[in-house]
Amino acid sequence: MGLQGKNTAEWFARGKASLVNGVSSGFRYWGDEDTLVIDHGEGAYVFDMDGNRYIDYQMGFGPVILGHGEPTVAAAVAEAAAAGTTYAMTTAGEIEAAEKVRDAVPWIDALRFTNTGTEATMHALRLARAWTGREVFVKFEGCYHGAHDYVLFTTAGAPVGSLGSRRSPVPWQASSGIPQAIRSLVRTVPFNDLDAMERLFRNEGSAIAAMLIEPMMGNCFGMMPEPGYLEGLRRLCDDYGSLLIFDEVKTGFRMALGGAQEVFGVTPDMGTFAKSMGNGFPVAAVAGRRDIMDAWAKGGVTQAGTYSGNGVAVAAAAATIDLLATGEPLARVEKVGTALMEGVASICAAQSVPVHVLGHPSMIGVFFAQDRPTDFRDTAWHDADLYEEVIAGMIGRGVMPVDDGLEPWFASAAHSDEDVATTLHAFEEALIEAKG
Ligand code: PMP
Repeated sequence: MGLQGKNTAEWFARGKASLVNGVSSGFRYWGDEDTLVIDHGEGAYVFDMDGNRYIDYQMGFGPVILGHGEPTVAAAVAEAAAAGTTYAMTTAGEIEAAEKVRDAVPWIDALRFTNTGTEATMHALRLARAWTGREVFVKFEGCYHGAHDYVLFTTAGAPVGSLGSRRSPVPWQASSGIPQAIRSLVRTVPFNDLDAMERLFRNEGSAIAAMLIEPMMGNCFGMMPEPGYLEGLRRLCDDYGSLLIFDEVKTGFRMALGGAQEVFGVTPDMGTFAKSMGNGFPVAAVAGRRDIMDAWAKGGVTQAGTYSGNGVAVAAAAATIDLLATGEPLARVEKVGTALMEGVASICAAQSVPVHVLGHPSMIGVFFAQDRPTDFRDTAWHDADLYEEVIAGMIGRGVMPVDDGLEPWFASAAHSDEDVATTLHAFEEALIEAKG
């Protein structure tokens, strides 16, 4: 593609000398000629070092629900930063932020803040293992839960052909450097396949500490659970004494104020939250039922973090949740996302391109295929080449959906009707061009 203008290319070359591949997170490296360097963001837009403006649908991989540099959150953070941030002691701001999380997500009894989603799922898994006295956990094919060893199996980067049969899935390891022993503690299962899960639980349910699931596949086209699926998982966990953990790092404070639990009406035992809780600031949480979370209070189960609950993070969370709680931002997200979903579907229909627009207005997956997918294995049907060309065409027209083919597009409260119209126009032109 060659996305870099002159200044961006110079900055990237400079960045490469000190930052490995010029990035701080592997997913941000798009190759030597396409990795952008961003100068700043403003609402729904990001600007690169050459002043090129993009309508952003990455929104930081989801967190920036209110828009880049949202002034109320920025002011709250600036005030908190000036008041000192890290004391090795609890602050009033931390308690207030925790209360706001509980008010927003009423099923939560208690929580602890962490800094990232990775940290949150790591702690949730340890707590679940400690509480149940079991070691094995269930991971759903195509879901992502962060960069720690336990969860890097059958993420959306896996070749679909490497997953074994549905009856006996083979965990695909996403990285070198993960000890072999860890592999024996994970069972991977296709999303939306309750029969497969029932079979697994019949065989070894009494050894399973937890299911860790993105209740909607926020890292795989935003695929939704089929009716009754989450209820089925809930029932199995209850029958076998396993814990149901919703990884709401993407869905929390985005699908709805109360996250996926509010939308689907199924209540997990534990949940992990991050991203939209802090509009782009590093704040996350592990939350859950009082009796489980109390395992931390009783001692013997380690949870710690120098920066957990720091002043800037909790100020960002408090300000973001206050704004989200008014209802206006998420109503806007819904309107933006619905217009995008309907627009993409009707453009594809007019161009006779088979598509399924998946997900939820807050997180949209554009899946080019005749048949509707329900799990990661079905992504084999997706016309990835067409998709890649369309995305490249959109980026060339100043619209930036996520470059990664499986990641949904993230709507924000900052996107205007005009942005949506520009986006759909760019999509239409890029699609026509890609069709040839
Ligand atoms: N869980 C989910 C569902 C995620 O999407 C992500 C990140 N994309 C994580 C966990 C990890 O969060 P972080 O990058 O903050 O460590």
